[in-house]
Amino acid sequence: MYSLNGKFGALVTMMALLLALLYCYISLSFRVVVTFEQEQAIANGRSAGTVRKNHVFHLVAPDHLMYKQPSIVEGRTDVVTVTPWLAPVVWEGTFNPELLDSIYRQQNISIAATVFAVGKYIMFLKDFLETAEQHFFVGFRVQIFVFTDRPNEVPKVKMAADRGVTVHAVPSSNRWQVISARRMELVQELIEQKLQGKTDYIFCLDVDSKFHNRWGTESLGGLVAVIHPGYYWDPRSNFPYERRAQSRAYVAVGEGDFYYCGGAFGGNIEEVRLLAKTCRSNFEADSADGLEAAWQEESHLNRYMWINKPSKILSPEYLWQDFKSRNREIQIIRFSGIVKNYADIRPNV
Ligand code: UDP
Ligand code: MN
Repeated sequence: MYSLNGKFGALVTMMALLLALLYCYISLSFRVVVTFEQEQAIANGRSAGTVRKNHVFHLVAPDHLMYKQPSIVEGRTDVVTVTPWLAPVVWEGTFNPELLDSIYRQQNISIAATVFAVGKYIMFLKDFLETAEQHFFVGFRVQIFVFTDRPNEVPKVKMAADRGVTVHAVPSSNRWQVISARRMELVQELIEQKLQGKTDYIFCLDVDSKFHNRWGTESLGGLVAVIHPGYYWDPRSNFPYERRAQSRAYVAVGEGDFYYCGGAFGGNIEEVRLLAKTCRSNFEADSADGLEAAWQEESHLNRYMWINKPSKILSPEYLWQDFKSRNREIQIIRFSGIVKNYADIRPNV
């Protein structure tokens, strides 16, 4: 009896082991494992593949919300509101702010913003923070991450509950090109070390600018790019892309959709992490070859967005320039670069 039981037990154990092995084999062969190198290759457009997507496509509106009836035959006719890959282009008059806010309020989203104020650029921070409090995702959870070499000079700005400023000390550089370009590296590190799994969306913004009107939930998306105010009437051959084929930021003549800003971009945390990681490693690989792209990280961002199409595009309302007169299609200016004297504020000119 005893020995029979023993044999039976051994048989069951063997069967269980075999089943476990079979399970491991099947689950491994069906799992898509994307390594760092594969992820980079996909993002750079050198290999087709799978990139994880985890956006919330399910938009739930509160019941009984009253708002203006939408139309599909009336609306803005002076501007294009969708790209050839069917991403919306956000212009004043194309969205309902109350509807969008009530959809996203139910999701209790949190938004991070990064801003760099290195060296004399600290002088722009007070206006940036004060106007962000008035216009940037008002009523939502917002954390602004300030990167500066002068943490003691960060102004104290009164902010609503659930909103705040976190200061990170960073080294300065004697070249503005390095300060500007290192932002990608620091954004990647911030996401990986602090934000992943905790924050939903992030926007990376220039400090030499002010908010003038609403920048809110209409800007949310997977990968979000802002059209540069200086080139959107031009043929793409005029865009200041990096034109040397040796550079990893190269965009050939005849290629490119739009010219996007380096001074404002964002989206879902995971998408921005991949963008920052890719731009940073391409920038560093170029440096090792003795190359610096025409407009540093902005050139790399433009190359990235050519391959990885943004899922939402913000019109130049979202980064205008104070020195430019307002074009007719710009019905509202939401965020705008202030006029500055480069010789006074940059460490090198
Ligand atoms: N920046 C900085 N200190 C510098 C140079 C640049 O903090 O000495 C940061 C700052 O956030 C600035 C951004 O890098 O807004 C981009 O530089 P800048 O605004 O001068 O470029 P532009 O918008 O004029 O092309
Ligand atoms: Mn700027």
